[in-house]
Amino acid sequence: MKIADTGSALREILKNAPAPRVLVPTMGAFHPGHLSLMQRARKIAGPGGTVVVSIFVNPIQFDRAADLDAYPRPMASDLAACETAGVDVVFAPTAESMYFPDRSVTVTETLLSRSLCGAARPGHFDGVCTVVLKLFLLTGCESAVFGEKDFQQLAVIRRMVRDLDVPVEIIPCPTLREADGLAMSSRNTRLIPEQRADAPRIRRALLAAATLGAPTEILAAARAAIETSPLARIDYLTIVDAETLQPVTELLRPAILATAVFYGEVRLIDHAMIAIG
Ligand code: AMP
Repeated sequence: MKIADTGSALREILKNAPAPRVLVPTMGAFHPGHLSLMQRARKIAGPGGTVVVSIFVNPIQFDRAADLDAYPRPMASDLAACETAGVDVVFAPTAESMYFPDRSVTVTETLLSRSLCGAARPGHFDGVCTVVLKLFLLTGCESAVFGEKDFQQLAVIRRMVRDLDVPVEIIPCPTLREADGLAMSSRNTRLIPEQRADAPRIRRALLAAATLGAPTEILAAARAAIETSPLARIDYLTIVDAETLQPVTELLRPAILATAVFYGEVRLIDHAMIAIG
């Protein structure tokens, strides 16, 4: 396994790397969800192709300095996990090597990124799109693997690829969960035991509410089930169209019940599909 810490070092390593090149963009602090993405990438690349994993806690997608500072960075164990997963190249750049201090170009998506996490975290998806496009260009990958857990991120990246004719195939992967249903996340390690024990209520609330009738009923039931906990604070709880991610008041097309919930400073997201008819 080769490791690059600057864009130019990565380009040098990848100069003669065999196709297909498959990229898994991450911020590290790996859990089995990340590993499932790497396994998927390995399958797509085949034994002869090249799997590239990027590990970069991208400062320009964080809206809160405390969240950026607290983000876990267990680099040694992450590298060992990549090695075990059969990754060929790890790209772990510093922020200084990724961004010029006077950088002035940003990729902005103006529709799908404005609801949900985008409304609560202004600039977040600009940061995501910008870094992901840079990673696509630096690696020259043919395909890239993303988790459905971050379904808004997946939708925004797909739209960027469509609208800018980016020649990268986007491969979605299902959400991996803990045995109690909590979506695996690098942020889960920051929960204190009481919060960790309480957090599976998010998934339970979404699943139970998503089977009810009208949107107002669904939202009220999910809100009540989450807010019963004194530890949980809802950041947003919304029903959006599955394709446009715009809020809906009527269930005419497939929709998604989505939430972000704070436990102390830790913000967890999850969602559930709402079946129609
Ligand atoms: P992150 O390091 O949190 O930015 O995530 C890197 C990639 O892993 C993203 O494509 C995420 O959607 C994906 N991912 C994160 N958590 C999970 C999970 N529990 N199951 C599957 N994929 C995940």
